[in-house]
Amino acid sequence: MFNVETIRKDFPILQRQVNGKPLVYFDNAATSQTPQRVIDAIVDYYSNYNANIHRGVHSLSQEATDKYEEARLKIQKHFNAKKSHEIIMTSGTTHGINLVASGFTSLLKKGDEVIVSALEHHSNIVPWQMLCERSGAVLKVIPMNDEGELVMSAYDDLLSEKTKLVFVNHISNALGTINPIESIIKKAHAVGAAVLVDGAQACPHIKADVQALDVDFYVVSAHKMCGPTGVGMLYGKEEWLSKLPPYQGGGEMIAEVSFEKTTYAGLPHKFEAGTPNICGGIAFGAAIDYMNNIGFKKIDAYEHELLEYATKRLLEIEGLKIYGTSKHKTSVVSFNLNGIHPYDVGTLLDKMGVAVRTGHHCAQPIMDYFKIPGTIRASFAFYNTKAEIDVLVEGVKKAKMMLS
Ligand SMILES: *Cc1c(COP(=O)(O)O)cnc(C)c1O
Repeated sequence: MFNVETIRKDFPILQRQVNGKPLVYFDNAATSQTPQRVIDAIVDYYSNYNANIHRGVHSLSQEATDKYEEARLKIQKHFNAKKSHEIIMTSGTTHGINLVASGFTSLLKKGDEVIVSALEHHSNIVPWQMLCERSGAVLKVIPMNDEGELVMSAYDDLLSEKTKLVFVNHISNALGTINPIESIIKKAHAVGAAVLVDGAQACPHIKADVQALDVDFYVVSAHKMCGPTGVGMLYGKEEWLSKLPPYQGGGEMIAEVSFEKTTYAGLPHKFEAGTPNICGGIAFGAAIDYMNNIGFKKIDAYEHELLEYATKRLLEIEGLKIYGTSKHKTSVVSFNLNGIHPYDVGTLLDKMGVAVRTGHHCAQPIMDYFKIPGTIRASFAFYNTKAEIDVLVEGVKKAKMMLS
């Protein structure tokens, strides 16, 4: 049984007040809240076995190493990677994307083409533009439509034997659209291109199976799925990770070092230079355990209820427009009130204890498409309730009255 009131007790922050009102946290697409189990893992690490990993012969170091590698195995199992060394621990999605973009510099030549989608977060646009500048490759864009969906026939037209790489997010953070990545991956492979999927927005809602998807790279941030900030994972197929050069040089990533020649460590260590976020990695594992204990099927079904309820209730407000109306969506509602700046609405909602995001959501090309400066984005998690959505709706109505 899915009991939201029981689940809410796992999140200490949900008990607090903001501006004298009970907190209504609807900024989950920016970062999720942290359950006690994950907080406990962090406290336990620093209280009981804080030590550097893979280095010391002493017991603390071995304990920390074991726990860190255990977390890697949890991540491997969760995303169903074939091998644990295909899981590279990163500082987050942005780091993972930059690692791959940097690695492809020497694998691309002038005139090669890379394809990105119109629905991307800036962190899945800028590193590829930088890659194109370095390598002379050409960036092509899959356009979007009024529903906030990718135009797949245009994607078909962009693909050719010149295509070497395709980058697309699994779910758009600005609109909530779930992209048809299965078909995007199949079509890219048919022309011999590799695919990186940005799973940052999908990981709190969908349990991605990297083998079933046959995806070449998949990246996530722990903080989008109940884990801490500053840690994430890059999944890469072994054949690709072996081909890519190291991203950063330093300790931990070498086999042998001399001033004449340095040889690199094997996977995954080749890509893990320096002391990692040890505590964060372990807490990431705890977050995965926590979410799996609830179950992604239940999470998805409940969040869908919230999405439908919020959409219906918000559309009762005259002059309110929702951006991103695909049938394939997660629990994100991006909207505007006719003639009112999203920032002003967000500020008033904050006074009422309601946390939403306003602005371009790191996805300016989407805002340009709709010719708007930004939206108000309410993004729901499995620990939110319909009663909280009622607070949002009343708040938006009040804001509309005060601002028009
Ligand atoms: C949050 C997010 C990112 C960036 O994640 P970081 O943790 O800031 O690196 C990238 N892409 C999408 C779709 C996101 O939602």
